[in-house]
Amino acid sequence: MYPAQVGYYKPDSVNEALDFLEGNEAKVLAGGQSLIPMLKLRILKPRYLVDIGDLGELSFIREGETTSIGATTRHRELASRKIPGLEIIQETASKVGDIQVRNMGTVGGSLSNADPSADYPALFTALDATMVIRSRRGTREVKAGEFFKGAFTTALEPSEVLEQVKVKAFKGYRQTYKKLVRRAGDYALVGLALLLKMEAGEVKDVRIAFTGVRDRPHRPLEAENALKGTKLSDSDISKATELAVAGVNPPSDSRGSSSYRREVMKRLLRNTLEEMRREG
Ligand SMILES: Cc1cc2nc3c(=O)[nH]c(=O)nc-3n(C[C@H](O)[C@H](O)[C@H](O)COP(=O)(O)OP(=O)(O)OC[C@H]3O[C@@H](n4cnc5c(N)ncnc54)[C@H](O)[C@@H]3O)c2cc1C
Repeated sequence: MYPAQVGYYKPDSVNEALDFLEGNEAKVLAGGQSLIPMLKLRILKPRYLVDIGDLGELSFIREGETTSIGATTRHRELASRKIPGLEIIQETASKVGDIQVRNMGTVGGSLSNADPSADYPALFTALDATMVIRSRRGTREVKAGEFFKGAFTTALEPSEVLEQVKVKAFKGYRQTYKKLVRRAGDYALVGLALLLKMEAGEVKDVRIAFTGVRDRPHRPLEAENALKGTKLSDSDISKATELAVAGVNPPSDSRGSSSYRREVMKRLLRNTLEEMRREG
């Protein structure tokens, strides 16, 4: 199906994009990997597209105690860059879609799109990232935990652009992103971002976030709290896995039932914690 007729505007700067977004019935276009299919299916019918995909101003990775990633940074760039203390970003990016999707898709597009099965929303929720949002009125910051409001819904207003995402380094943490898919290149049936810091044989800190199990990333704080201070015994891990799924009612669809997804959540968390325990 072809999209409905739509106007196209290519700004030379973020300020020009923001000027155009104000007062026009327009949608930001970044990598087009999610937006173009939605236009073709006529789920969305904006009057204009504002193409920020090539704005160099928004394409950067600035490493430091806090790393800043510009919104139009491609998945490919993140997949080829090991950021000290944030190695999980490279691992996650390399598991997004296939090579074509990683070449075109952007970090800002994925976060703004807020697909309940996407990988970055869970990743950046586990990392407690800060979203930097810009409009003609100025800049505001929103924590990942507040940014994702529901399926395909975020704290962004129509006249705002996600400018960058900021993340603190998690030095000394074991970190991994696990994803169960039915076919290579698929969205996650369930995905898990896990960061764990051990000190003197005990869990000093842990961050857990799932994707694919509800309308937004699921961060089970009770499971995290239950693990802190433990030695990661079998019973500590069992208790945490039960707490991680408590009250979660994952969706059922052609790829898997709700109860199957709950079981996958438990297995992913248990296996990953056991793996980290073995590594010491
Ligand atoms: C075949 C295929 C497989 C895929 N597999 C996966 C996968 O395994 N895991 C995964 O996580 N994703 C997957 N994706 C989605 C992919 O990661 C997209 O790149 C991403 O969801 C959207 O990024 P984009 O840059 O293409 O954004 P676009 O499609 O251009 O935009 C998406 C939405 O975000 C808005 N937007 C974009 N940038 C901004 C911004 N800076 N500020 C405000 N709003 C903005 C747009 O207006 C639009 O509403 C897949 C996509 C395809 C086509």
